Amino acid sequence: MTVVDTLDSPADHAVDGCAGDGERERLQRYAQWWHAHGEAISRDVDRVGGARLQLHDRIGRRIDRVCWSAGYRDMLLRGYAEGTVAATHETGSLLPGYRVGYVTSFFDPGLYCPHTVSLATLVALEKYGGPGTSDWIGRLTRRDGSVWQGATWMTEAAGGSDLGAGVETRADPAGDGWRLTGEKHFASNADAELALVAARPADAPTGVHGLALFAVPRLAADQSLNFRIRRLKDKIATRSVATGEIGLEGSEARPVGDPGQGIYLIMEVLNVSRVANSIASAALLQRALAETLAFARERIVFGQPLIEQPLFRRQFEDRCRRFREASALAWAAAGELDAVWQETPPYSQRYHRFRLLAHLAKYWTAEQAVAAGRWAIEAHGGNGLIVDYGIERLLREALVLSVWEGTPHRQMLDGLAVMAREGVHEDLIRWLGDPAGADRQRADIDALLARPRAEREAEVEPVFRGFAEWTASALAAAR
Ligand SMILES: Cc1cc2nc3c(=O)[nH]c(=O)nc-3n(C[C@H](O)[C@H](O)[C@H](O)COP(=O)(O)OP(=O)(O)OC[C@H]3O[C@@H](n4cnc5c(N)ncnc54)[C@H](O)[C@@H]3O)c2cc1C
Repeated sequence: MTVVDTLDSPADHAVDGCAGDGERERLQRYAQWWHAHGEAISRDVDRVGGARLQLHDRIGRRIDRVCWSAGYRDMLLRGYAEGTVAATHETGSLLPGYRVGYVTSFFDPGLYCPHTVSLATLVALEKYGGPGTSDWIGRLTRRDGSVWQGATWMTEAAGGSDLGAGVETRADPAGDGWRLTGEKHFASNADAELALVAARPADAPTGVHGLALFAVPRLAADQSLNFRIRRLKDKIATRSVATGEIGLEGSEARPVGDPGQGIYLIMEVLNVSRVANSIASAALLQRALAETLAFARERIVFGQPLIEQPLFRRQFEDRCRRFREASALAWAAAGELDAVWQETPPYSQRYHRFRLLAHLAKYWTAEQAVAAGRWAIEAHGGNGLIVDYGIERLLREALVLSVWEGTPHRQMLDGLAVMAREGVHEDLIRWLGDPAGADRQRADIDALLARPRAEREAEVEPVFRGFAEWTASALAAAR
């Protein structure tokens, strides 16, 4: 089957030879639901009515409720019912949930955010939550309307890339628990029932190694609001998730894992969501190509369908190749995370190799999604810029995929750090089977690593970009 044959079928692509027929049929039914119902709801959320914040009830009491247009909750709950979070708890594997996420993202990448952060919350609790959190785990893994949603709130107003300097939220011991005080500046799934929050215990060192991870329920033990939603952000895209500013005002919190190892746990949470982001980017790429193909088959230019014009056809085939490669990279990162996600510090070499793969995947798939979103607009001509047709939305959504979960700079610099510290590029090249071009990659990376730090950082982009492209191409060739 060629890439073109699979363009319209997100379910086929999500299973892509690595899941049983039962799963394919289930995902196909989920995709059909999106065609029949979900797309219209998602379009309205994007264009007409995103989230609205109701701060008070009519008596004047704070309720901080996020309100949505009709149908939103159906759309949201459908993914939980399909097991986007619960399947990991049930099977011990992240892959079934990621496959559901692929289909979700084909139709609405922003909606995959609540599912992803809920999954990341579950993973952290399953690994580090301890016996007191089994009730929370039970609620997060329901498949019906009573499911609890999770959230992962690290970023503060001072900046998200440099968490060591940017996190000012303070954690103070109180009785047999902790209290958090501070403000989270980008808090997606703002009304989640349970949030994972990065904070600094009062006596902890400065920098990232002083950060700890806490679980903060929406309701305190006395059922009062445990955090305040100060406002919701008005975003260019991902309007299917409510992103807010959150006030923690002595919020009751429970530590997740050893507070001294908080930064490792934060990175583990990011692993889950960076891989999900890569999967969402691949799905968006597929969608951009499917929409463009449908248009180009019918649009007649100079007497023949646009797709038959040699220049256009060449561009389209090139995009298909890039999609296949980005997709191979995203699913390789998912497969490797699935093999190492249960590890705890100190990690194996395979875990470090996965980290490099995840940085490459997050970076490269999002870059390709942005490029495909822009090209889809161009390929539709003027209609690409008209909101009625939803093509411009692909680019808006892709731009967010490139920034959240760490910008391209972050992926490059963190990828560079893991190569410098652990030497995992060599490991990755060998894991790929030393394919053609390996010596050139090795030489470029080793030459970069030999330079002084400032030069190394200044020159990382072409090397990292080349390595990401080459890795994606090698993975696609091996499929
Ligand atoms: C819609 C949306 C939802 C979000 N939801 C969440 C959420 O739920 N939880 C959460 O924790 N965060 C969330 N974020 C925040 C997101 O993770 C951050 O925006 C991102 O990590 C970048 O941080 P920043 O915006 O503070 O930019 P900054 O960290 O201020 O960076 C500004 C620029 O400087 C660059 N930069 C930084 N350091 C370097 C360097 N050393 N060299 C070169 N360039 C550098 C960055 O790449 C960026 O281009 C969300 C963001 C958005 C847009």
